[in-house]
Amino acid sequence: MSKSMIYSKKGAFLIENVPVKKLADEYGTPAYVYSKKIIEDTFINFKKSFIKLNPLVCFAVKANSNIAILNLLAKQGAGFDIVSGGELKRVIAAKGDPKKLVFSGIGKSIEEIGLAISHDILAFNVESEGELYRIQSIAKSLNKKAAISIRVNPNVDAKTHPYISTGLKDNKFGVDEKKSIELYLLAKNLDSIVIKGIDCHIGSQITEINPFIDSAKKLVALIDHLKTLDINIEHFDIGGGLGINYKDELPPSFSDYADAINQVIGNRKLKIIVEPGRSLIAKAGVLLTSIEYIKEGNSKNFAIVDAAMNDLMRPSLYDAYHEIINIISHNLDKKEYDIVGPVCETGDFFGKNRLLSIKNKDLLAILDTGAYGMSMSSNYNTRPRSVEILVDNEKSHIIRERETFEHLISGESILP
Ligand SMILES: *Cc1c(COP(=O)(O)O)cnc(C)c1O
Repeated sequence: MSKSMIYSKKGAFLIENVPVKKLADEYGTPAYVYSKKIIEDTFINFKKSFIKLNPLVCFAVKANSNIAILNLLAKQGAGFDIVSGGELKRVIAAKGDPKKLVFSGIGKSIEEIGLAISHDILAFNVESEGELYRIQSIAKSLNKKAAISIRVNPNVDAKTHPYISTGLKDNKFGVDEKKSIELYLLAKNLDSIVIKGIDCHIGSQITEINPFIDSAKKLVALIDHLKTLDINIEHFDIGGGLGINYKDELPPSFSDYADAINQVIGNRKLKIIVEPGRSLIAKAGVLLTSIEYIKEGNSKNFAIVDAAMNDLMRPSLYDAYHEIINIISHNLDKKEYDIVGPVCETGDFFGKNRLLSIKNKDLLAILDTGAYGMSMSSNYNTRPRSVEILVDNEKSHIIRERETFEHLISGESILP
């Protein structure tokens, strides 16, 4: 079992110094709960492991975009990797520094680019020639200079789920090495563009070190080559993608990852940017959910819970594994259950054939759901989104109210 932020002490389960049961009683379920201490400690450990390279750590906002969490990270000195104008506004609402923002994504709109330029972000991670021209023309009209990196797709197999692999030549992200050289030569002659860096991001939930090494090697070779063309690269953005152990994976540690990158960089004078999402936040969150019904059958037993795929998509979308534990202890015999939600889809499940000792009304915790949990949630089946709680030592705070039906239909109207 993976190490969890929930621990047991004298028969009770706790998050920091708050009993988990008490949180469910106070705020109801489903509820996302995060630990302030784990968020901060993880970030500090990450920075420490990378001490030799002293990178700017740009947290990938899409992994968890709650402004309270972004604010905790900003206070620790984090920058942010954003993929939309909305995420840019979130960073500002969270008191993050726009000058520590990198902007990734293949479909940046005119409005989003204008907004980012007016906030003087650190760099656009440019993903196509069309985007480069668009940034040039918007920067010119605003009488500003825009700093850019080209996102290079190094054609490296990240050996992860196909839906979260982004660095293969047939993926929609970035440009290949040859094209990147063309774009740098082009950018050099665009008067409102400043070449700052180079960027890559090969995928997510990567649990081997070699894909990181292979892509970093390709990128530094490219940086060296660009120098011969009189194109000077100041920063190397190595992307994110480091995996965690949800079940029995053995991902590289922060230090293994940092040391490997350090070795590839050698004594080049490059400012490093890194864009971790999952590895900083997944283990700092859990989803609490109550059992509504136990349904036992001839071939299958189901525990039907009050959370659903709209709250946590990962099992439905990627067949992802999350450990599930019962917060209420009793000594019923263990049986195998599928843990499922109430949504009208067979794909609405959290775990299959889980051996658990449970009964109706028990409180379950779905572990390691701090990343790509709430941020991917939806209102499918007209289900209000969950409340989000941040635990700080013996206190707990609501950092996002549970949605109400009124929130859900607030933009809708019927014909007059
Ligand atoms: C999603 C994403 C990240 C973060 O990925 P993790 O696997 O969560 O670390 C970083 N950079 C870019 C460009 C992304 O799209």
